[in-house]
Parts: sequence; structure tokens; C-alpha cells
Amino acid sequence: MCPNLDVTWDASQPLQVHWITPDTVVLRQSIEADFEAPFLYLLFGRDRALLLDTGATADSPLREVIDFLVGEWLAQHPRADYQLVVAHSHTHGDHVAGDAQFTDQPNTVVTAHSAALESMDLGARMITVLPIPGHHPSSIAIYDAETGLLLTGDTMYPGRLYVDDFPAFAASISLLCDFADTHPVTAILGAHIEMSTTPGRDFPIGSKRHPHEVALPMTVEQLHAIRDAVGRSARPGAHRFPDFAIWNGPCRRAHLSHRIRLLLTRR
Ligand SMILES: [Zn+2]
Repeated sequence: MCPNLDVTWDASQPLQVHWITPDTVVLRQSIEADFEAPFLYLLFGRDRALLLDTGATADSPLREVIDFLVGEWLAQHPRADYQLVVAHSHTHGDHVAGDAQFTDQPNTVVTAHSAALESMDLGARMITVLPIPGHHPSSIAIYDAETGLLLTGDTMYPGRLYVDDFPAFAASISLLCDFADTHPVTAILGAHIEMSTTPGRDFPIGSKRHPHEVALPMTVEQLHAIRDAVGRSARPGAHRFPDFAIWNGPCRRAHLSHRIRLLLTRR
């Protein structure tokens, strides 16, 4: 099933839903609810569904939306005892804030530390989990052989790739390149968009509007470009590239310039 990634993101919806395939959903939390505007993924197997990440706010309507989507899917594929597994691309607050909506629910498992996850079978749908520390020690990528989608969380997306542990990040990007060179990858989907359609120009941190935002999907060629860029970003600080940026370490000067840019856009 070829993934359909042709979607325009609409900030007026608290949680926008887009079906990538009949068994795969991407959701985006509205940038008006939280400037991080993270992407969440829902993958349906024959026995269980996997929800990757729960968003940036505790009070989003995530639970209702997921229950509705699971109900919709089950109406097409009736079966008893269908499970929901809630996992995380990593444990930063903008990816786990909705967890409490899923704890103590029937047929639902909320995993605590996704980096410890191993490859899992959702029921005729094998999911490969790749530990990719560097942005955060718990960071993982998920590869879905059914669609060829590689979900990379905050390690790779069109935006600022914040690096906490540079050697680990470099090794993780190399691992993703090696993986993508040996498996069919149709698109690489991360957890945010921060780049505008002007090459090298990102939106100010905290901005609640993204006019002329680039599209979410990235390519294996861009993954290789990130590997090349990592080789030129060993010095701490913010390094700009056309399709992404690498922020190696705390980047205080870059943060200050973003605060100024944000103030200017609000005036
Ligand atoms: Zn994030």
C-alpha cells in the first residue's frame, strides 16, 4: 500500500487526523494548542494497534480521537480483545503529555521506556524498533515494513535537530543510513516541522504560526545529507543547512536570537 502523505495541516483542528493508508494514521496536534505541534502515529495490526507518542498537552482530546479511530477501524475489521499499545519516540514532555489519558484503560498498555522495546508483531504487521540515542537517551526509530515508513521522532525531521550527546547522535544517524540503504523506505516521518519553504530558514522557537511550512516527509537522500552535515557540526552551536539545522549542545546564542526573532514576529 503506497503511503498517501498529501495533506495540508490545519491549525484550527485540535488534533488533525490524516489516513496515510487504510491501516496507518498520522495525527498532528494544533500549533495553537502548543507551539511544538507534534505529530503522532497510529498503526493498526490484526491483533493490536500501536500509538506512537501522546502529544504536548495533558488535556488534548487525544483519547476520544484514538477511541473513535480504533472504533472506525474495528468496524471494518471486527475482532474481539483488540489491544492498544502506547509507546514513545522518546520521553521528552511534548511526546508523553497525554499518557495519563491511557493508563488504567482496558486492553491498553502504556510502555514506560521505549528504547527497551524490541521489534514487535502487531498481528501480520512487523514493527522494527531501532534505538537511536543522541537527541535523548530514550530515542527510538520505528520501521514499518508494510508501508516502508521510517518514523524518527525528534532525531530527524525538517527542523532543528537538538543534539544532547553528539557522538551518540552521529552513530545513530549512521545507523539509520545503513538501515535505509538495506531496507525499502518510502518516507521518513519525524515529530515536528520547523522549517519554512525558504531553504535554511526556520520558524522562531515558540512561534504559534507557521506560514509557508515545508512538508513533513523527508527522504533517504536527506538522511544522507544529515550524515554529511553531522560531520561538519562537531563544534558546539547551531549549524544551519537548507532542509534542517543541527543544534549541538545548549546553543545559548542561537536561543537568544530566536527569542528576539519571536518578539519581532509578535509585534
Ligand atoms: Zn519534540
